[in-house]
Amino acid sequence: MSKTTKQFQTEVQQLLDLVIHSLYSNRDIFLRELISNASDAIDKVRFEAHSNESVLEGNSDWKIKLIPNKDAGTLTILDNGIGMNIAEVEENIGTIARSGTKAFMQSLKDKVSSDNPELIGQFGVGFYASFMVADKVTLFTRAAGSIEAGCCWESAGDGSYSIEPCSREKRGTEIVLHLKEEFKEYLDEWKIRSIVKKYSDYIQYPVVMDVTRTEVPKGVDGKEIEGAGTIEKTEEEILNSMKAIWARSKSDVTEEEYNEFYKHISHDFENPFRTIHFSAEGTSEFKALVYLPAHKPFDMFFADRKKGLQLYVKRVFITDKCEELIPDYLRFVKGVVDSSDLPLNVSREILQEDVQIKRIQKNLVGKVLSTLAEEKEKNYDSYVTFWKEFGQVLKEGVHFDFANKEKLQDLLLFESTRSENGSFVSLKEYVERMPEAQKEIYFITGTSREALEQSPHLEVFRSKGFEVLFLTDPVDEWVVQALTEYDGKQLKAVDRGDISVDSEEEKKEKEKKREEAQKEFSDLVSLITDRLKDKVKEVRFSNRLTDSACCLVADEHGMNANMERIMKSLNQSVPESKRILELNPDHAILKVMAELHTADKDAPALGDYADLLYDQALLTEGSPIKDPLRFTKLVSELMVKAAAK
Ligand code: ADP
Repeated sequence: MSKTTKQFQTEVQQLLDLVIHSLYSNRDIFLRELISNASDAIDKVRFEAHSNESVLEGNSDWKIKLIPNKDAGTLTILDNGIGMNIAEVEENIGTIARSGTKAFMQSLKDKVSSDNPELIGQFGVGFYASFMVADKVTLFTRAAGSIEAGCCWESAGDGSYSIEPCSREKRGTEIVLHLKEEFKEYLDEWKIRSIVKKYSDYIQYPVVMDVTRTEVPKGVDGKEIEGAGTIEKTEEEILNSMKAIWARSKSDVTEEEYNEFYKHISHDFENPFRTIHFSAEGTSEFKALVYLPAHKPFDMFFADRKKGLQLYVKRVFITDKCEELIPDYLRFVKGVVDSSDLPLNVSREILQEDVQIKRIQKNLVGKVLSTLAEEKEKNYDSYVTFWKEFGQVLKEGVHFDFANKEKLQDLLLFESTRSENGSFVSLKEYVERMPEAQKEIYFITGTSREALEQSPHLEVFRSKGFEVLFLTDPVDEWVVQALTEYDGKQLKAVDRGDISVDSEEEKKEKEKKREEAQKEFSDLVSLITDRLKDKVKEVRFSNRLTDSACCLVADEHGMNANMERIMKSLNQSVPESKRILELNPDHAILKVMAELHTADKDAPALGDYADLLYDQALLTEGSPIKDPLRFTKLVSELMVKAAAK
């Protein structure tokens, strides 16, 4: 067969034009594509050698060599991979056989592709990326173990290519890029080095280049010889680290290597809390090496914080921060995912929609959550340390990740009326130690344990020995909106709506008491209601107070004090929502006020006392009072009166 010139398949030419005209914003990737092809070719010959060792031809010193030639203006990429025979070259380079691609090219026809560079990322542009920087590409190749002659292919990317047999001693492929004048920078040692480092560092074969250095010759003692002038020394240097640590099997990687890699990718100085290394097969093939850090970063709650994992496709670097791989509530997770299914040129827009990415995310989330569950089960103390750092973020998942709610709810830890300061209870433990009479799970939200411990809302629960969870992170308000039930038991806020903690008998008794109080204090209650009508929605008798005189409660769906505080701190407008003032019918204040009312129903002190009751209720729940000056004045007056008696 002599040299023949052929036309590219129409779709190939379209693809070529697209690549040349729309990917120009990141030309460097041409080298990534070619190195990746070379690495694949080595993978293939190694695989082939398992069943047929002769393909090795005694050459298994795997390498990908880059040869910049400034005189010729060429950059050559040489590999000792599987190579191609003529038929394969024709099939692989010059036609597009992959299903779907043709249809895709067709659909692109009408679009202005230069405005949509992401469109091209839907499939690998691979070899054709060379034409972004080269005005002529020559490819020499010979298939492994083939007695057939080698092949030489050449094209200027202008619609046609030539192909001819040529003899080639060594197996593998050599691609010579005749660089366009304006892209001669790709012959520069440092430019090549930086591209390899950035995109191909973890390619598992050495990417090498001859590097010439000028140096002063050294004597046998290793010292430079004075006056000897300089000599040029050329050495083959490996440009990539080859540490595709995630691609190695777990048993081959030491803990130190894992930790070093973590520090490298996370810029953390400390070792990670846990390392998760696994590979998935089946519908989605990928390897992942992810880490749970030991400490939260300072910017964990900053809106502009960058999150995401590094994404590789077959050991070729794609992006540093692939947000789509990990949900927001696991934004502290660091690591690398290496997919075998995605195309190399996968773009941002595609990542968002890609089903493979979604599958990987699902898988990763499952792994992270099961690692945490295991940690909680087996190393509770260390889980607690982790929880203290990241619990607050993890909780966001309860609200946002409905699919994993069950798993997440079992990872939650809370302080409670029965836990020591700084120690926790899980929902499972809570339920296990619930007294028989208790039917619901109780919680109270607020700013701190110290403040909540004082809350009058807890009185009846304390008296009954019912545990109440302290929910002190702002996110907890959202957690309880999503988590309304656990193990068939309702989660109930102690400062909201009506609560029924009593047995039937107790209920009857309290009801009776309430009716009596209603009768006894009805005029007084009307007076208080009237006085506080702008501040509260209702005044009623409480069944949650044992010691305090009063407290404020939200109705079943109203906003509680904590939520109101959070919304205000977020500069959100807070809708007007009046709460209910609950009074303790057994408290001495009521009796005193009732007596005063009977003696003189217009006594000015009654109004002041009503105001004081309301302010007290605010203070005990940790809310600010409107007029502290008036409050102190009234209290001082009372003190003076009491002392004078
Ligand atoms: P992709 O790599 O996405 O398949 P390319 O256009 O880069 O697309 O390459 C097309 C095909 O050409 C490859 O699938 C491979 O079979 C072959 N090929 C490319 N480069 C080489 C190489 N260096 N050695 C052997 N085969 C190669």
